[in-house]
Amino acid sequence: MTRSLSPKVEAVFWLLLSATGYFLLASLSLHATKGADNIAAVWPPSGYFLALLLLMPASARVAAFVGMAAASLAANIHGGAPLWSCFAFTLSNLCEAVVALWLIRRSEPGELSFMVPRSVIRFCVAAFAASTISAAMAWALTGKGLDFLLSWLTTVLLGMLIVTPPIVMLARMIGTNAFGKAPAGMKTEAAAILTATGLVTILSFSQSAFPATFLPCIAVVAAAYRLGPFGAAAGVLIVTIIVSLFTGQGYGVIAAMDTAPKVKVLFLQFYLVILLFATLPLAALLIGRQRLAKRLEQSNRWLLQAEAAALVGHWRVDLAHWTITWSDQTYRVHGLEPGVPVDVEYSVKQYVAEDRVAVRKILEAAVRTGEPFEFQGRIRRADGQIRHVKSHGSIEMGRGKRAIGIFGTVQDVTETVENARILEAARSAAERVANTDMLTGLPNRRHTLAFLEKALSGARDHGAPLAVAIFDIDHFKRINDTHGHAMGDRVIHRVAQRAKAALRDEDMLGRIGGEEFVCILQRSSAQAAEMVAERVRQAVEAGTADEEGLPNATISVGLAVYDGEPDVEELLHRADKALYVAKREGRNRLRMAA
Ligand code: GH3
Ligand code: MG
Ligand code: MG
Repeated sequence: MTRSLSPKVEAVFWLLLSATGYFLLASLSLHATKGADNIAAVWPPSGYFLALLLLMPASARVAAFVGMAAASLAANIHGGAPLWSCFAFTLSNLCEAVVALWLIRRSEPGELSFMVPRSVIRFCVAAFAASTISAAMAWALTGKGLDFLLSWLTTVLLGMLIVTPPIVMLARMIGTNAFGKAPAGMKTEAAAILTATGLVTILSFSQSAFPATFLPCIAVVAAAYRLGPFGAAAGVLIVTIIVSLFTGQGYGVIAAMDTAPKVKVLFLQFYLVILLFATLPLAALLIGRQRLAKRLEQSNRWLLQAEAAALVGHWRVDLAHWTITWSDQTYRVHGLEPGVPVDVEYSVKQYVAEDRVAVRKILEAAVRTGEPFEFQGRIRRADGQIRHVKSHGSIEMGRGKRAIGIFGTVQDVTETVENARILEAARSAAERVANTDMLTGLPNRRHTLAFLEKALSGARDHGAPLAVAIFDIDHFKRINDTHGHAMGDRVIHRVAQRAKAALRDEDMLGRIGGEEFVCILQRSSAQAAEMVAERVRQAVEAGTADEEGLPNATISVGLAVYDGEPDVEELLHRADKALYVAKREGRNRLRMAA
């Protein structure tokens, strides 16, 4: 468990850290640049203090400013500057820190990140503004020349640009335990790259016989590429320290240049600035790319997982190059290993010959119209299985509303199709049962009347003739009484068969009551209808008793020809009346309705 420090203790901590660090860096810089040419290219204390300001809590800032001011005074006095200058320098450095902090906080209210190119640029702008103000103050307060102003500006600016980023990033990495979490290989690589950077810089700047100033650049680019912004910043810092120390002491190619000291300083500063600006934004961009690539990879993985879970694949045809891409699930739908090369023709040929033409037509129409499409067809999988697949898709339009691609999904719907087929079979079986009379296998009353309803409206709409014959078995009670109910049933069945056989294909026969039937005779003239009805009567008369010992049975028939009746009941009623007449007049005969 961590216990947070009290604000006072915290303030003292940041005060001491600011004061000691600032004093040491300032003294070291003043000392190091007191070499042969008195060259000062970078002023690291400014960068160090700005880094602390960015890291410390706001409550500790006043204490830190006090510590920094004391350290600056002490270092300058110790460095031998006149007292007034010491105060002027300290005040200028103080102001520069305040301005830099304020500008950064204003443009980046959250945590300043060196991983984002835009934030890096804002940091550079703040550092430039702060060092310009600081230089102008120091120049005005001390009354020195323009050279001094320029030199102050560049050294402070470089101090901030080079020293602040690596300290801030390092502190954050320690704070978030990024070092602890980093894989061992990466730590070794980081150590190796940064050590190599130091070594090649020493090699390049400790002598002037071989001016290999490009070598450190390669090392820092490698650090930026492999380690990101921290690698770039740390690499530049290492190069800065080493080059400054060697050059300050009169070693290396810059010190050996045959030119004035200020030109050498400018050259060194230019070298460092180029190194910094060539690598830090590059590394930030690279990190951005890597993150984007990771996110893309992640979302692609999720997409494939979702496809596998939903059993939906996707495909895309590139119309310009006439190539096709399948997702892993699309391969699975086709029973193939993901990654096997496929082309457009092959994809279409997956469909069975009967469906192929339709698929082609739908796709061609979609490309022509740019409209979304949908089709279902059967494919023959690699293992020979026939599967039903459904595709939905849309056309990708390029510039000038030209189709550049076809994007579609594909789903194996075999089970759905199979289930629908079973369901349909069950439904039609149920419908058959609901419409059929169990004893005779003829349409039952409900179905017969419904059919007649349709026939009637057809006759009414098209003026086609229609006739209805009702027939009833004569003295059926007697048959039942004499031979039993079961035999009666068989007679009903046999009468139905005989009657059906005597009818034409287009006529319909239904059982509408116990031993009552209806013949619906469509598109028949009155004479033709009468002939057919009479044939039915004769067929029954002739045939019931021929086999299986069935008793004789006859029927009486009432025939009504449609005559503009408003409904089925009316027409049936007329036929029924004719049937009654037939019964009354002795049975086993046909009577026409009046
Ligand atoms: P009619 O010549 O006047 O028609 O005399 P009928 O005896 O046939 O008289 P009706 O048509 O009124 O009699 C119908 C009889 O048919 C009544 C009933 O017992 C019998 N019946 C009705 N449905 C069935 C059935 O499904 N099976 C059997 N075996 N008998 C039935
Ligand atoms: Mg009857
Ligand atoms: Mg009867």
